[in-house]
Amino acid sequence: MDGYAADRHTWRVDDLKAAWYDLQLTGKVHVSLPHLAAEALAAGFDGPMLRELAGLGIRDDLEALRLLPMVLAESGCDLGSGEESWGEIMSWASSRDRFEPDLVARTEQALAVVQRDLDRTGAKVGRLTLHWTGRFDDDGEPQLLLGFDGEPFRGGGDPPPCVGGPDLPRTVLSVAAGVQECIMELFVFFWPECPLHRRGLHLPESDSEWAGAGWPAWRCRGAGGHDIALLGRLCKGVSPIR
Ligand SMILES: [Zn+2]
Repeated sequence: MDGYAADRHTWRVDDLKAAWYDLQLTGKVHVSLPHLAAEALAAGFDGPMLRELAGLGIRDDLEALRLLPMVLAESGCDLGSGEESWGEIMSWASSRDRFEPDLVARTEQALAVVQRDLDRTGAKVGRLTLHWTGRFDDDGEPQLLLGFDGEPFRGGGDPPPCVGGPDLPRTVLSVAAGVQECIMELFVFFWPECPLHRRGLHLPESDSEWAGAGWPAWRCRGAGGHDIALLGRLCKGVSPIR
């Protein structure tokens, strides 16, 4: 199997695996399993169980659910039992459809805002990506991880930071803080920095620092402290606002 086929293979199996986790969590599958199986076959993956699943009609729901773990076992997925089975981290592309549209829109917007700051400051860290741990927190929000170029950051010893927030500014803050941490762990530098003082910039420590303005700003603690730019508005060598 060449690299391209391998990518497609992984992606389709990811979809089936996501359906399995969905089933464990909610007791339901929100996608058509025969359809996913047919797509997996079309993508070049093959197996007797997969063929059987792909051949089922829409009324064969129960049979599809019975076949799903066998298809996954056939494709080499270790579903394990208990805690370890939740250790799989899924791509955003294969998981975003199962979350609230508002949450998806807010999270993707926040990612774009922070990506803009990364781009404008010329940080050479790759493209920022989102990933789902397959778990939800106590409030029912998905536990989302950051990564670069499709590779999730799994934490430097500690559990990795999850991102999210009740509104756009706080989701942006959460993504920005997560990116700072990922960059420090993976690339060992402080991002972003003040063009004037060459010191690392800080995010607001509490909502009250930016609530009046409606949007948080990057702040330098040099020379008594000064705001540099709003989040999403950084650029290289920007003249600092005083
Ligand atoms: Zn400064």
